[in-house]
Amino acid sequence: MENTKINKKLIVILGAGESGAGSAVLAKLKGFDVFVSDFGEIKTNYKELLNKHNINWEEKKHTEEIILSASEIIKSPGIADKTPIIKKIIEKGIKIISEIEFAGRYTNAKKICITGSNGKTTTTLLTYHILKKAGLNVGLGGNVGKSFALQVAENNFDYYVLELSSFQLDNMYEFKADIAILMNITPDHLDRYDYKFENYVKSKFRILQNQTKDDYFIYMADDLVIRNEITKHNIQAQIMPFSVKYIIENGAYAQNNEIKININSNNYITMSIFDLSLQGTHNTYNSMAASIAGSILELRKESIRESLKDFKGVEHRLEPVLKVHGMQFINDSKATNVNSTWFALETVPKNIIWIVGGVDKGNDYSELVNLVKLKVKAIVCLGEDVAKIHKAFEGIVKDIVDTKNIDEAVKTAYYLGSKGDNILLSPACASFDLFDNYEERGRKFKMAVRRL
Ligand code: ADP
Repeated sequence: MENTKINKKLIVILGAGESGAGSAVLAKLKGFDVFVSDFGEIKTNYKELLNKHNINWEEKKHTEEIILSASEIIKSPGIADKTPIIKKIIEKGIKIISEIEFAGRYTNAKKICITGSNGKTTTTLLTYHILKKAGLNVGLGGNVGKSFALQVAENNFDYYVLELSSFQLDNMYEFKADIAILMNITPDHLDRYDYKFENYVKSKFRILQNQTKDDYFIYMADDLVIRNEITKHNIQAQIMPFSVKYIIENGAYAQNNEIKININSNNYITMSIFDLSLQGTHNTYNSMAASIAGSILELRKESIRESLKDFKGVEHRLEPVLKVHGMQFINDSKATNVNSTWFALETVPKNIIWIVGGVDKGNDYSELVNLVKLKVKAIVCLGEDVAKIHKAFEGIVKDIVDTKNIDEAVKTAYYLGSKGDNILLSPACASFDLFDNYEERGRKFKMAVRRL
């Protein structure tokens, strides 16, 4: 193995999901030899895409002789650094990059990049909606929709709005965001960061790398972690914070139920928060972040306002499902950590019957105690890790009932509820005990509600 020769033209792609398959197509188009290797099974549509472009691939194994002869490796964000093949690649000194780094080399489009622990997808889709509605030639990528790489291969967009996870940022080096947006930083995914929060924070701050004074950094000023980390960086970009606590001269703030976007101390937009399609404090943050980006691009104020009003919302994020006998069911399956559930409990009016649980990623439920006292009438635990939920809320909430599947959870919540209550699925946990992913959990929840 030591003697495997490097093939200067070979790019190996590990993981053939959306980002991997897209990277393979782009690499092939740019004249590289391409080999795709996935330790799991590759979905049929991606196999077809690879075959269509005559790209070699393998599944359910990693052929080391080929992989370790690559000049560069593009790694899917889902593959952790501690997997054996990655360790070997690192040992051999082969450069590992992310799909975003690779595709970024082949486009001159302006890139608006959004990261954070929560609110990425919502803010990305809202920003895209604002740009698209204003008539810009814009693509949407990163963690949502089609891969960035495939669009760089097949389209010719002038702008991209990209959702970036910390895993993608970890393998980005030369890439630069023209407009970087950092929503918030709360503990998540610590298993991938040696259980050190500071490593995760550093990873999120890579969104700033390579920015110059012509670029912009939009961030949440109410987040103490971000404010503290900023003092450690020599930021070149123009900074545009947003806040619901402070008045911001250059950026955005909310006060007296209005949001105000100020660009260079001039008021660009003022809007009532009741006109925003996305409700709740967390969504006010999302709306402010997206509108600052639109304002920097000097889009028409009226167009931005309209987009903030008519945005459709995103499935599985505080999504109203149905009213059954006066009880409103709400699907917040995407709430996979405590912070996002905090905002759900803050936004949804009482009385709440709260369906919670799944795979606990090291949750500290104490942050939720005050809101639960105030608003939650009953708790329905779902899935594996329920002991901690009992421990945190026994004595605070009278009814805490354990359930084993989503049908049982929905029925139990329904029997515990009465007219005017809100039945909220906001699990604060990952979904992998009972479901493939949070989408399946949300869909099955909605189906169970419709069967009532
Ligand atoms: P991400 O892509 O970062 O996971 P999403 O937009 O998919 O973010 O939202 C994930 C969860 O967090 C949902 O439950 C949603 O209601 C909640 N959420 C959305 N925006 C925010 C925010 N700015 N701060 C905290 N929670 C949020």
